[in-house]
This record gives sequence, C-alpha cells and structure tokens, in this order.
Amino acid sequence: MQAKIILLPGDGIGPEVVAAAVRVLQAVEKKFGHSFHFEKQLIGGCSIDASGVALTDSALKACQSADAVLLGAVGGPKWDDPLAKERPEKGLLALRKGLGVFANLRPVKVYPSLVGASPLRPEKLAGVDMVVVRELTGGLYFGKPKCREQIDGRTHAVDTMEYMDDEIRRIVDMAFQLARGRRKKVTSVDKANVLETSRLWRQVTADVAAGYPDVKLENMLVDTAAMRLVSNPAEFDVLVTENMFGDILTDEAAVLSGSMGLLPSASLGSDGPGLYEPIHGSAPDIAGKGIANPIGTILSSAFLLRYSLKLEKEASAIEMAVEKTIASGRLTADLGGTANTTEVTDSILDVL
Ligand code: ATP
Ligand code: MG
Repeated sequence: MQAKIILLPGDGIGPEVVAAAVRVLQAVEKKFGHSFHFEKQLIGGCSIDASGVALTDSALKACQSADAVLLGAVGGPKWDDPLAKERPEKGLLALRKGLGVFANLRPVKVYPSLVGASPLRPEKLAGVDMVVVRELTGGLYFGKPKCREQIDGRTHAVDTMEYMDDEIRRIVDMAFQLARGRRKKVTSVDKANVLETSRLWRQVTADVAAGYPDVKLENMLVDTAAMRLVSNPAEFDVLVTENMFGDILTDEAAVLSGSMGLLPSASLGSDGPGLYEPIHGSAPDIAGKGIANPIGTILSSAFLLRYSLKLEKEASAIEMAVEKTIASGRLTADLGGTANTTEVTDSILDVL
C-alpha cells in the first residue's frame, strides 16, 4: 500500500527517537512491499525558533492531508518560561485540535524481563495489561470561561470543567469497542460525588454500556483509581476518563512498566489521520547523546500501522521484534542496560 506519513521530530530527543522509528518503518516497507512517503515538518521549540509559532498553518495543513503523523516530543529549557506568549505545548494542542483527535490511547504492559525496573513489587505486576483512554478535547483544558482578572486588588483565575454529552459518548464508545477485543471490562473513572460533568459522564456511560451487554462496566472515583493503579493494577483492562484525570492517571500507570521510554501512544478521531507519539517528553537531560530509548517511538509506529493504515500483520511484527529485543537484554540506560539508541534499533531490525 501507499501512504503519506508526516514526521514531526520536534525537540530534545525527539529527532533521535523518530529517526530510529523511521528506520523500522522503512524495514517494514521493504519486507512487506509497501511504499511509505515521509515528509518532515517542524513543531514545538524548533518551530518557534524558525517562525515564531509552535505550529505553522502550513505544517498543520501537511498533517491534515497525510495518512498519519508521527511525533517525537516538544519543549525544553530554552522555551520553558510558563508565562511566555508562545510555548512549545501550544503546537501540540493546535495539532490535536486541527486533526480532530479526541481519544488518547496508552497501553500499559509489563514485560516479564523488566519487572525489576518497576517501582512495584513483582507480585503486584503479574498480569498487568491495560489501555488507558484519555479524552483530549474537553474538560478543564478548554472549557470557557478561562481567564484571569483583577478584582478589588486581588488576582482571580478561572478554569472551567465543561463537557457535552456527545463528546462523552464518542470516547466511551471507543473504550467499549476496545474492550470487546480484549478482556471485556471498562473502568470509567470520574468524580461523580462532587462534579456535575462527572454525573453527566456517568449517565452517558451507563447509556453506552447498554449497547455492549458482553462488556462489564465498572464506575470508579478518580481518587480510588489513583490508589488502585498502584495497589491492584492487574484488575484494569480498559480505563476511560476525562482530560485532566487522564493526564494524571496515564503518567501514574506508565511508571508501572519501568520506564517512560518504553511506552507508545495513539491519538485518534472518528476519521482523518491519527497522531502517534511516545508518552515521554523531550528529555533535555539526555538529548544529543544518542542514548535515548527508541522503543516508545518504535511501538508508536506499530500503532500507526495498526490504526491508521490497518496493517495488523506489520504492526505485530514490530511488537514481536521489540519484545524479543527486550528479552535479549539489549537495553538502553533507562532500563539498566548499556546499549545506545542505534544498537537497540539495530537489534530490533535484526529480529524483523
Ligand atoms: P515533558 O514536560 O515534555 O513531559 P518531562 O520533563 O516531564 O518532559 P521527560 O522529558 O519524559 O519528562 O523526562 C523525564 C525523565 O525520563 C528524564 O530524566 C528523561 O531523561 C527520562 N526519559 C524520558 N524519555 C526517555 C527515553 N526515551 N529514554 C531514556 N530516558 C528517557
Ligand atoms: Mg511530563
């Protein structure tokens, strides 16, 4: 098949890990007889340096007309002033909005050979295999009013938690569909004892669940979920939640696997190109040293093949190669190994 893939390497280790994933995609292209066209665009700090904005209209247009977008990471100390007018993260928010992606999927898996890298005891980790589905377009991040004003000499700031029923319906529905192909359990996380948006969330979720009699629904308060993710992580199959709860819980769930460097993510809408990126940031402390773990980005490219290009066999081939490489002990420093980015990628290519 032919496909156009936009590469947004971004900042810090972004270019290093995206280059590694491109090598893997090119190997898949050859092995399975596909034709991928890659095109690079700027996002984040490097885009601010080049043009003053974190994502130009032309870069966004290129992404919108592609089959899929593979992103590295944005940000770094150079652009860290939280009060600056243009910030790297603005590029990401604009990209998500421009692509219409509303669901962020993060699988959390514990590789048997890496249980030692996890902060949890091995007996807690047996059977941990979940997908966290985070809502991306609503909630506190986008609700209006969102403002700051002076009132009688004091400064007043407002963020608003806001959801429409259809925004909830589409993401919860995606969670139920995912659960059908897995262990058939959805844990919907909210704060329905306090928040009106959560009460709406629970109502819509019950409604969606009625259409999936084969999938078990469990409602859980977010504070309980935060606790159970570390006390009993194996009980989760698909966890679905709103934007900010998801932001927090996805990071918490991610550390279970041992390294931020390992985990991929996919951001999907109902149609249009998907956005694929590792869950880690730009890791400025190790940028430019060639030692970043490329696996999170390589697994993201497997997701790209699976969800945007519908190339399941090819996606599984990458995942298998990664699993074998991890089991062989060829690991980067974040996992206690001594291999560099190129050596881990070479090893994955060898298996492929
Ligand atoms: P952001 O604000 O962009 O999310 P962050 O500072 O929260 O960034 P990361 O950039 O992900 O978080 O870095 C957190 C720590 O994890 C750093 O010490 C970094 O070196 C390490 N780290 C992140 N990604 C990788 C990777 N791919 N390989 C090795 N180490 C990594
Ligand atoms: Mg972070």
